[in-house]
Amino acid sequence: MPHKNTLTKRIEVTGDSLSPGIAIGNTYRFKQIDLESLRKNSFPIENITIELERLDHSIKKSKDQLLSLQKTALENQKKDVADIFAAHVQLLQDQTFIQSIKDAVKLELLNVEHILSVKIGDLEQSFSTISNETVRTRLFDIQDVYQRLLRNLLEIEHVRVTPLLRSKSNPILIAEHLLPSDIALLEFRKIAGVIIEESSAVSHVAIITRSFGIPAVINVPGISTLVHADSTIIIDGYEGKIIINPSAKEIASYKRKKNGFAKKEAPAVQHQRRTMTRDGIRVRLEANANSPEEVYDAVREGAEGIGLMRSEFFYMGRSSLPEPGEELNYYKRIHEAAGGRPVTIRLLDLGADKTLPYAKVPPEINPQLGLRGIRYLFANKELLCNHLKNVLLSSKYGTLKVLVPFVSIVQEIDYLEDLIKRLIVENHLIRAQIKLGIMVEIPSVIWSLPLFLQKVDFLSIGTNDLIQFTVASDREDGRLEEYREASIPIMLKMISYVVRIAHSFGKEVSVCGEAASDPLIASLLIGTGIRELSVRVNVLQKIRKEIESKSVDQTEIAVREYIEAIKGELL
Ligand code: PEP
Ligand code: MG
Repeated sequence: MPHKNTLTKRIEVTGDSLSPGIAIGNTYRFKQIDLESLRKNSFPIENITIELERLDHSIKKSKDQLLSLQKTALENQKKDVADIFAAHVQLLQDQTFIQSIKDAVKLELLNVEHILSVKIGDLEQSFSTISNETVRTRLFDIQDVYQRLLRNLLEIEHVRVTPLLRSKSNPILIAEHLLPSDIALLEFRKIAGVIIEESSAVSHVAIITRSFGIPAVINVPGISTLVHADSTIIIDGYEGKIIINPSAKEIASYKRKKNGFAKKEAPAVQHQRRTMTRDGIRVRLEANANSPEEVYDAVREGAEGIGLMRSEFFYMGRSSLPEPGEELNYYKRIHEAAGGRPVTIRLLDLGADKTLPYAKVPPEINPQLGLRGIRYLFANKELLCNHLKNVLLSSKYGTLKVLVPFVSIVQEIDYLEDLIKRLIVENHLIRAQIKLGIMVEIPSVIWSLPLFLQKVDFLSIGTNDLIQFTVASDREDGRLEEYREASIPIMLKMISYVVRIAHSFGKEVSVCGEAASDPLIASLLIGTGIRELSVRVNVLQKIRKEIESKSVDQTEIAVREYIEAIKGELL
């Protein structure tokens, strides 16, 4: 608990800017519940009646929240989501479970949070031995409901409830740590700003947050202990600055700043137009977009196509596997929004931090190096077949490029190609109309490029993972930024090599990792020979301006200087 004075005192802290912009609002803290420490730390209670009343009160509060969520989901015509909340209400009414908690409180005379966290642990244990997948996925609902109950007992805000329930307040979300699954269901339009105590600029959470264009600051350890539930906060996403309990004068000044920036930054509607360097060399500029709405925005900003559509975000924004027809319909809407421009749908890239609440990856010791991307799909054949079929079928609605994530060995492509051929025949599709490409994000691919280039049509370089693996720095870890920055010359050298080999095979190669969305790096990429970039929608125009401002010569000289600085030469 912060001392009372700190609750109203003006405090200024700085972190790293994740996404520019000014946000002013009240705070909402999102806290992951540390079940382990609740299990370890119990304390004796003095009054059983009060403890049981706390439990009853939390059950009622949880139920009200769930009913309200169910109602909102129905209003938004999300019946599948509404059904989940209805099932959660049922679980809350499980009298046997609730009575077992009450009995344990009476018997052990310990705080109810401790008893509940132990019971959740027991349930997790008993589910871990069940092999039936459907029964096991029920555990995720159970965990979700009882975590909600725990949050209400501990009086911690619910990240998924708050923005929906308090739609008018435009809260600033503060979290120690967030997972993509925590935010996949979040209504970002209702959030004014985001502060994450620990994150890194290339983590998936950061990528999603930035793609919504919300002012955000990361790497501000301890900030959640400095604010209370309704503290007013200013986020200056340009400077990475945060002011807690600002003065009225500061609020007024930042409001002016915000309005000023908003006017300056409002992008003019761009119709598709070709991007050329200053000396007239053509660069193809596409966008990373994950939903039909984002694709519309991309087209409005002048994107020539969708260079990366992360299909896992469609799966992560839902509470159960898609019903037949739903996924294909989603891709149809994406193609329609793209208006005939090519759409690169990347196959599900699950694993590591990207998990599904309804199909979690078994715990791994080193998940970043584990069952990710195509490996996860090979381990879940039914999911792979259904998903791949929907992706391929979408070629009926537009120009489709299929991108395979997390490829490391060529045998993966052989296996996949066989499956694609089978699905093409079964579904009366035309193979020649679909291009197949791979993510270049694991170094082994670079050192066996000719093998891959005989089998695929295009390459897409994923700098987020490629840098993580090249310089061995966990992309989720904000403390390792220095390593990632130091690896820029190495990355430029690798990419120059990839471009040269790919072009010698007559194959297309683009960059879709976050590096391409940084104006300085985007222009260096041109110097490596890259002529195709896929960037965040909200920086597309900035990147175009940057490319247009330099000649290829200039960018090549800059790349050479970077590479010479590490005493290297082009391969
Ligand atoms: C990458 O790794 O650079 C990439 C684009 O994929 P993701 O960020 O989704 O892992
Ligand atoms: Mg990747």
